[in-house]
Amino acid sequence: MVASTFHIRLAAAGQRLERTQALRALQLNLGRLCNMRCSHCHVGAGPDQGATQMPDAVVAQCITAMDRLQPRCVDLTGGAPEMHRRFRELVRAARSRNIPVIDRCNLTILLVPSYRDLPQWLADHQVEVVASLPHWSREISDRQRGDGSWEQSLEGLHRLRAVGYGTGDPQRQLTLMTNPDGDRLQLLCSKITDQWRQELAKHGVTFDRLIGLTNMPIARFRDWLVETGRLERYQQVLENAFNPCAVRGLMCRDTLSVAPNGQLYDCDFNQMLDMPLAGHTIADVTPESLAGRSIRTGSHCFGCTAGQGSSCAGATVAAP
Ligand code: SF4
Ligand code: SF4
Repeated sequence: MVASTFHIRLAAAGQRLERTQALRALQLNLGRLCNMRCSHCHVGAGPDQGATQMPDAVVAQCITAMDRLQPRCVDLTGGAPEMHRRFRELVRAARSRNIPVIDRCNLTILLVPSYRDLPQWLADHQVEVVASLPHWSREISDRQRGDGSWEQSLEGLHRLRAVGYGTGDPQRQLTLMTNPDGDRLQLLCSKITDQWRQELAKHGVTFDRLIGLTNMPIARFRDWLVETGRLERYQQVLENAFNPCAVRGLMCRDTLSVAPNGQLYDCDFNQMLDMPLAGHTIADVTPESLAGRSIRTGSHCFGCTAGQGSSCAGATVAAP
């Protein structure tokens, strides 16, 4: 196998990237169906992606795998994962095994009439909601997710708060996930989090945690970079900001990303780039078959090691 530029950079910094023994997150991508079509979307999701939904047979394999893999959490993503018709069954399966569940929620789905009961249902099942909200500012947020989306997102946050989310209740955790506007690096610190709290409080919104994700140069965001002639410069920005300290916390070390067809990946980004973990599927993977495996990397990985680092759980280096 030819070493990627990322791997060469890691080696130069005296770092190795391989999977750990314990599985922190079993991340299930239920398909690319979504009620939105955001410009920064790294999975190319949209309302016309119904054919990409995870089939029943793979859903059953994912449930069986919860026993075999014993992850510390089940992380449901998409698209809008709630739009998968067996979303609630997957949540129940994990919770009945006492496994914490994360729902990666776009907030606007909570306003769709057929999902009106969802906030209470999530609260009843003690699901952590990780909600994407690009920015506290209406203008910046709408630029990425479309006109009117900020207002709808805030309405979604009000509905979550009405059932106890974002109020400090450990069983109703609300995490907001931000990402930069365009080709800038993600930078979060306690001052910025305080600003978010103050600005959103003006609209009656509170939350437990704010995390950030760097925009990855893949899928729809890459198309935008190419169209605007910024791809090369952005890649250079990411590479120049390489931080060896960010490697240790990379999510690919302890996350297993499962595609709708049951194929396995080190992360959601590799899934979008069709860089699978060969040899197993969700039907037969075991913890032993994952431990110590080297991770498939490419130039997109510089998006995870730039600055404070970036992952589905936020920065991989503590904020200043
Ligand atoms: S970023 Fe999230 S909400 Fe937006 S289109 Fe992609 S999956 Fe849907
Ligand atoms: S893109 Fe995936 S494989 Fe590459 S560093 Fe990030 S999490 Fe790891």
